[in-house]
Amino acid sequence: MTETRTGTDRAAGETLLVRDRRLLWHPYAPMPAAVEPIVVKSARGVALTLSDGTQVIDGMSSWWAAIHGYRHPVLDQAVRNQLGDMAHVMFGGVTHHPAVELAETLVDIAPAGLEHVFLADSGSVSVEIAIKMALQYARGVGRSERTRLLTVRGGYHGDTLGCMSVCDPVNGMHSMFTGMLPEQIFAPVPSPRFGEKFDDSHVAEFADLLATHSEEIAAVVIEPVVQGAGGMRFYSPDYLRAVRQLCHEYEVPLIADEIATGFGRSGELFGCDHAGVSPDIMCVGKALTGGYLTMAAVLCTPEIAKGVNAAESGALMHGPTYMANPLAASVSLASIKLLLSRDWRSEVQQIEDELTVGLAPAASLPGVRDVRVLGAIGVLEMHEPVPIARTQETLIKRGVWLRPFGRLLYTMPPYVSSVSNIRTIASSMVEAARQQ
Ligand SMILES: *Cc1c(COP(=O)(O)O)cnc(C)c1O
Repeated sequence: MTETRTGTDRAAGETLLVRDRRLLWHPYAPMPAAVEPIVVKSARGVALTLSDGTQVIDGMSSWWAAIHGYRHPVLDQAVRNQLGDMAHVMFGGVTHHPAVELAETLVDIAPAGLEHVFLADSGSVSVEIAIKMALQYARGVGRSERTRLLTVRGGYHGDTLGCMSVCDPVNGMHSMFTGMLPEQIFAPVPSPRFGEKFDDSHVAEFADLLATHSEEIAAVVIEPVVQGAGGMRFYSPDYLRAVRQLCHEYEVPLIADEIATGFGRSGELFGCDHAGVSPDIMCVGKALTGGYLTMAAVLCTPEIAKGVNAAESGALMHGPTYMANPLAASVSLASIKLLLSRDWRSEVQQIEDELTVGLAPAASLPGVRDVRVLGAIGVLEMHEPVPIARTQETLIKRGVWLRPFGRLLYTMPPYVSSVSNIRTIASSMVEAARQQ
């Protein structure tokens, strides 16, 4: 019956939007969705081509991922080559070149001390695995009473239950899942802002919480230097350095969630590099595959691995069906090589310079509360929630695709964006802010 009905509807020429609306959930949306999506036909370079032929610059890099833009010939070729060998094979009892080479490359470029790699299938899952590593480590070193996590307010770590428990309790809507989410410990939003002077008072409350609860804390979880989807804030690397030091003192593993910051976005290869610190466990995702496929990775130190092995299971208890997917691993490897072969630092610096100049006029607009730029990230924080539909209409007319959320209108464009692309994005953001 269903088949017939769908067939009839298609024959009746229902538009794609009508079919979409009837069938599909979109991210953080009701059913049916309240805001009509745009139909993207194809994408190349920094541009999305819409169904009517309009081209818009993707100022979102498809949620931080497409750092090299779309249909990059090197990445397309990497996927094609891998398809010639195999798209996938289970990782239980099996290994392959793409997995081993990707792990070697990640260990080479990651902060010192991270030597082992778990290849997971999405950012959220990698955070779950990092948490499980920390819990199993605690048991392995004879501290099984350490079952909670310490984190900071304003964070975002993903949408699965464990991840949600360390997201900002207000933004993350913990009230909706009360009773289901483990209750974690929250320190204030990290301060001061990036570039401002740090002193010990900034980390005092975090230090107090760690001191009070250290016997029950399995790990500290934090996004290094940039808090992404939890509020797009940039904080002082000195704060991160102090957190690293405190974690050493209390022998609590530090989990760095580099899923948004990894691969150059904030101006250093990893957020931790701003502070010159190494976490005990690190998650990467998003830009890992250059925006091609879903994959994330969890890196850890030999000390963590040893502790996990010493727990009663004698093994890390996780193993997804698509673990180490060869297509995703191959394109990740190609994306990292491509990144390192380019002068990515200058590219990101140029984007930072252009965004700084281009967004500056917004600072004097009445609706704008704050303007901030770090690396290839530009943010306009408004006083009021950004009206999504109207704002996107303004932006698309000017040839730009952005996805505002809450009071934030922000961009993290592909690194391959030209000066003119960035100027267009920045002036469109200013114009959209002016209309608020
Ligand atoms: C996006 C993001 C995640 C979740 O990754 P998914 O691939 O969407 O599951 C976790 N942490 C941070 C910092 C992120 O930006």
